[in-house]
Amino acid sequence: MVVVMDINSTVEQIEAVKEKLMKYNFKPQLIHGVKRIVIGAVGDRHAIDSLNLKQMPGVEEIISIMKPYKLVSRQAREENTVVEVGDVSIGGSEVIVMSGPCAVESREQLLTAARYVKKAGGHILRGGAFKPRTSPYSFQGMEEEGLKLLKEASLESGLPTVTEVIDEQSLEMALNYVDILQIGTRNMQNFRLLKAAGKANKPILLKRGLSATIEEWLMSAEYILSEGNENVILCERGIRTFETYTRNTLDLSAIPLVKRLSHLPVIVDPSHATGDRGLIEPMSMAAVASGADGLILEMHPEPNKALCDGAQSLNPGELEELMKQLQKVMAAVGREKSPINLGGVVNG
Ligand code: PEP
Ligand code: MN
Repeated sequence: MVVVMDINSTVEQIEAVKEKLMKYNFKPQLIHGVKRIVIGAVGDRHAIDSLNLKQMPGVEEIISIMKPYKLVSRQAREENTVVEVGDVSIGGSEVIVMSGPCAVESREQLLTAARYVKKAGGHILRGGAFKPRTSPYSFQGMEEEGLKLLKEASLESGLPTVTEVIDEQSLEMALNYVDILQIGTRNMQNFRLLKAAGKANKPILLKRGLSATIEEWLMSAEYILSEGNENVILCERGIRTFETYTRNTLDLSAIPLVKRLSHLPVIVDPSHATGDRGLIEPMSMAAVASGADGLILEMHPEPNKALCDGAQSLNPGELEELMKQLQKVMAAVGREKSPINLGGVVNG
């Protein structure tokens, strides 16, 4: 259920409603939209009638939401959430491109990658410092050293950064170095991590679990919002099906569907969805045509030398070409052109 407050309601009126809800064991959560102020209240739906909330000053409407996720739903907030990271707005009119290597491998590799992302017109630098690998014998990431390199690459390139966190300790550590914290597919239902992310003061990129339904994915986002962090970006990254020729199956229909159900921005990761460099460009085009607010693309200065996910990593030239092709789809679907800064000099 959500309590819609008059946009001109006072802090005291909002507090009075929240207090009453808490008294009756609801868990109120304030969402401050442009057109509406709503208080999400999770609790027994039937108890609500006896509270007489409608009579309280400042209350405009009570909407019962049957979906198990309240705060992430479009009913709680009509307008799109726009997540601001530095100068970059995710969920606004522009399509945002995050790119960089699967893993941070060395100073030279990351700084070179950052320069290429910048040159191609990308907005955010990605790079994994903590790698959740299927095999314990595979490269596990540079950890804090990798985070420091992300910070350095960000300062040099001016690009904000995103990195995956795999537990509460890595989350705490990453907060000191990066701009967006990613929760990967394998941790989508790590509820303690989701709660910790909800208390963090940085945006969260929440990937869809590889076997998660859309409802389970939105419930995981609800964990983060219910702890007070509204800056969540959802990422469709393919789900596991019977198909074996692609790494996963990219669920493109999830994009318009999730955007119908939720106000949160939705981006797409065609790299992990397909596992195949040759499929990244067509799937990126399809994602933008389907309404995605952005893309996260693996790019390595030398993909054949990558310590992980080389087969799905673009090389710098391929990223640049993809960015050019994307302009056509963006124009066709009425998304703003991203400011491409071609012709920059890349050293090293
Ligand atoms: C990644 O982005 O590096 C990653 C491991 O992605 P996913 O969690 O989607 O597999
Ligand atoms: Mn990867």
